[in-house]
Amino acid sequence: MLTLESATVRFGERVAVDGVDLEVADHEIVCVLGPSGSGKSSLLRLVAGLQEPDGGRVLLDGADQDGVPVHRRGLGLMFQDHQLFPHRDVGANVAFGLRMHGVGRDEQDRRVAELLDLVGLPGAERRAVAALSGGEQQRVALARALAPRPRLLMLDEPLGQLDRSLRERLVVELRALFGRLGTTVLAVTHDQGEAFALADRVVVMREGRVAQVGTPLEVWQRPASAFVARFLGFDNVVEATVDGERALTDWGEVPVPAGSRQGACDLLVRPAGVRIGGPGKGLGCVVGARTFRGSHVAVTLRPEHGPVLEAECSLRGTPDEGERIGVTFDPSECVVLPALF
Ligand code: ADP
Ligand code: MG
Repeated sequence: MLTLESATVRFGERVAVDGVDLEVADHEIVCVLGPSGSGKSSLLRLVAGLQEPDGGRVLLDGADQDGVPVHRRGLGLMFQDHQLFPHRDVGANVAFGLRMHGVGRDEQDRRVAELLDLVGLPGAERRAVAALSGGEQQRVALARALAPRPRLLMLDEPLGQLDRSLRERLVVELRALFGRLGTTVLAVTHDQGEAFALADRVVVMREGRVAQVGTPLEVWQRPASAFVARFLGFDNVVEATVDGERALTDWGEVPVPAGSRQGACDLLVRPAGVRIGGPGKGLGCVVGARTFRGSHVAVTLRPEHGPVLEAECSLRGTPDEGERIGVTFDPSECVVLPALF
């Protein structure tokens, strides 16, 4: 459905999108994930036709979009700063794109009612936009974007303004809704939780380039690089030299799974793989801050050598702050990272 070939966007010296190749299949939900400034919005604007490419091509259903204006690309856009019309009611907001496409009045009304049903706001046509909650406004914006039946729906940080619990609920609803409608979606967000909950496939971006592509599970289980691992919130990453099933690191020797890449690399140790035992066994550490995370406690450890370590402890098995303990590593939670970018 969507193909990007070496897509490039420059702002002066700055390369915002740097030779990105990307495909989105029919009915697929792809989420571009990256820190602020990594080029996500520029990428979306390029696909939408709001941004001229400085190199490469954008194809929709195989057709080069060079010179095709925004409103002829058949896209639905929902951007973070894409405000609703405050002085029009909900119905008029949702009908906006239909009116632009010259859809008749009766058909508009029918379609608006159907969409408001879909987004969980049945009968809200005559309500004032200003009287809606943030989450309700987001649903109206979504209904408006979906109304003209876009071949590709594009979302830029769609839930960024909402509080966490609402965001978590909406994202699950959105995924179910897109699945039911068979909507093809390209979304961008800096929030990994949102991306992982929404996407069939995640594209991690760094400085305008693709750092990793995979299913949420693949990216989570096998981050491609130290950058991706850290971005996902894994801080136990060290330089290592792998020799057979051992990695030599600043923490000492860490066991790694058989078949791991050999030689100089970055090594990720998941917090669940940091085993805490009595002092004198393994790497000596002093217990630092402990943070309650609901299902477990995240414990900061200061090792006798090497960078700070984070361990995941059960609620009952958490050592006390200041306690001296020994750490060993579970090889099944140690990941030799394949890429250096
Ligand atoms: P993201 O959406 O991931 O935060 P953006 O695509 O907005 O990233 O920005 C990528 C880079 O391009 C940033 O360094 C940003 O400062 C720069 N940039 C974006 N838009 C413009 C613009 N209109 N003019 C100049 N620089 C821009
Ligand atoms: Mg952005």
